[in-house]
Amino acid sequence: MKLVKFSLIITATALLLWGCAPDEPDHEPVGSTPYVRSSSTVRNDSATKSVITSQESYQLGTHIVISIYDENQASNEVFDAVFDEIYNYEQMISKNIDSTIVDQINVNAGVESVVVPEPLFKLIENALHFSEVSNGAFDVSIGPLVELWGIGTSDAAVPDPVSIDEAIAKVDFNKIHLDSDKMSVYLEEPDMIMDLGAIAKGYIADEVKQIILQHGYESAIVNLGGNVLMVGNKPNSVSWSVGVRNPLSESTSHLGILALNDNSIVTSGIYERFFEEDNVRYHHLINPRTGYPEQNELLAVSIISNESMIGDALSTAVFVMGLDKGYELVQSLENVEAIFILRDMRVIATPNIKSSFKLVNNDFVMEDYH
Ligand code: AMP
Ligand code: MG
Repeated sequence: MKLVKFSLIITATALLLWGCAPDEPDHEPVGSTPYVRSSSTVRNDSATKSVITSQESYQLGTHIVISIYDENQASNEVFDAVFDEIYNYEQMISKNIDSTIVDQINVNAGVESVVVPEPLFKLIENALHFSEVSNGAFDVSIGPLVELWGIGTSDAAVPDPVSIDEAIAKVDFNKIHLDSDKMSVYLEEPDMIMDLGAIAKGYIADEVKQIILQHGYESAIVNLGGNVLMVGNKPNSVSWSVGVRNPLSESTSHLGILALNDNSIVTSGIYERFFEEDNVRYHHLINPRTGYPEQNELLAVSIISNESMIGDALSTAVFVMGLDKGYELVQSLENVEAIFILRDMRVIATPNIKSSFKLVNNDFVMEDYH
């Protein structure tokens, strides 16, 4: 695949997840929507011979941008449908909003099972699947550790070792029980907490893609705070260009550019949410076994896949697994590629994606895995 340079480079960086408040769009909320949302910006793009219609929102604790490429301006209805869908998912999934269904599952831990809507059931099934394939590096019951560390909140601090051990003891995805006949979910022990933060945005991005296609549009970019999904091909172009962020940069400067079509790219890295104490950076990717933010050779890993949910789950899983185990896992899966960015400034791409990636920062070097 040849790399073509375009003026518009999408930045694939996970800005933030649930709960905190990063860059909200400058626009006023539209109508009576219960979330911050912009009106359409419309641009004639000569390179793609398209009209690009974009709307932004602040949802899922992050900055969302949807850009639709078409012959004409995209209707407001498609954006209504997209943002309402995201809102509905947030009301179902967030563990930071009281009385969401995930909150009910958590409140009823050790008490009783909770019947959930089918999409949530499917998402939890997938989360358990990735918990298994990653051998618990990704663990959807990570909630007690996430709450203890509070990374991304004003209370973030290094916990005492006893509290960490207590929290580790509450994390075990094998104690989540699903009943597909009743469509119910049960957490076996009291104090267990399900946290879908590492997989939900990808799942929602895939749903948003379906809504866009159902409305008759064939080309779009769905960017949920850096969880980027390209719908179809870029009109009159060889590919979309997606910037992979330099994880060491305070700004969103690019380390490299990927040429992609109809694909998702999701990144997990040390720069998304963190605090620093005594010169140590404590970031939001927690190893369920040690109870600490994972410190390994990786600064970030980007996963390229057809489905964004797969990329989201795997980016978190592979980051925690580290280069060797993560590389092996990615290579064992079909249609999944990865770009590893290492602390020693090497960048390693899996063979099938290498020719689509162009390094643009000379501080880093590309290397093959060996
Ligand atoms: P992501 O940015 O997709 O890698 O997801 C990170 C978020 O997932 C964190 O903010 C936590 O809510 C949650 N999380 C952190 N560590 C893990 C883990 N080992 N397994 C599953 N979820 C995790
Ligand atoms: Mg993830």
